[in-house]
Amino acid sequence: MEQYQKILQFLLTIPGSVKVNDTQIRMHCPVCNKKDNKLYVGLSHNPAFTSKGLKILGYGCKQCLFSGNVGKKFYDTLGIKVDKDLMNFQSIKTGVPKTINKISKYETLNLRIPDFVRPEDKFKLDYLSKRFNRKLTMKDIFTYKIVLNLHDLYTFNNLDILQFTDKSDKKACMSIKYLIDEFSKHFVGILSVDNNKVNLRNINSERLKSKRYMVHVINKNIGNPYLYIPSTKIDLLTPTPTICLAEGNYDIIGAKELYYPEDRTDVVFAAIGTRTAYKRAINQIMKMTGFINATIHIFADNDKDTDLRWYEEMFKDMRHLLDTIHIHYNIANDSNGNPCKDFGNLSNPVELQSYII
Ligand SMILES: [Zn+2]
Repeated sequence: MEQYQKILQFLLTIPGSVKVNDTQIRMHCPVCNKKDNKLYVGLSHNPAFTSKGLKILGYGCKQCLFSGNVGKKFYDTLGIKVDKDLMNFQSIKTGVPKTINKISKYETLNLRIPDFVRPEDKFKLDYLSKRFNRKLTMKDIFTYKIVLNLHDLYTFNNLDILQFTDKSDKKACMSIKYLIDEFSKHFVGILSVDNNKVNLRNINSERLKSKRYMVHVINKNIGNPYLYIPSTKIDLLTPTPTICLAEGNYDIIGAKELYYPEDRTDVVFAAIGTRTAYKRAINQIMKMTGFINATIHIFADNDKDTDLRWYEEMFKDMRHLLDTIHIHYNIANDSNGNPCKDFGNLSNPVELQSYII
């Protein structure tokens, strides 16, 4: 009998435990104490383990945020003492290593997008498919770094949700748990280029009804400005470097879907959060890619308060580093006759008006 089987067999002797299948059981959760025993314990699918052939037991409660890998904390919380031989195989390092670029000093968390979709998150895929105006695939989830379930992003990467929180600050811990729970159930997210910020769209949260978008920062000690770059392959030596930019994540996704549906290795796509950040973002992308003399395409929000002169003025002092700068607006009206204004929802029409500055 393998070690994980021994542990599951032992856990099944605890009242309330039920076998789900050969590699998974469910138990009574001591944390939320809900009656319907939704604490699942089973073989971890985390590729950090499976790629090395390790059979590690993980646990996660569907009702609350009690989750992690079976070990001392798990047994302590359950209030049981076990012999050494029922500990979880090897001690597992928790925490996500970060990478720091030696030149740009840019810090990045080493996170991976979960490679599965829970049935209860399917409505989020449907929401996105509507916005993308086509059915989303697993490849899209990786390319666009979509976080269907924030809690899964943590557990899949073996990261404690309170990793970067002062655990003695009970109020802060409660608030993070509450938010992650709400985000996981009702929001869909997109992960920033440094893997440290999740930009979340509210789909059906009543409790956070007034918030359409929220940003969740994983490690608050990393202070990179906001930048989202879909994960596409880039040829750093391309003779035709191109940088496409928009303010919002969904706008740059929309622009890529509309105008660059095929895989292109000469184009970097980026969303920058706010239009005042265009210059900073281009500077940063130039540092990351070495793209000098790139053609710039800005898929701009069609607001009354910014005209072409505003963009000309902004780029004045970096003009010599760039090729042509194209500014594109969506001037279409939606079915109710209201201006669409941007590229963020492809179920709306698009009528392009383009300028070169
Ligand atoms: Zn629970």
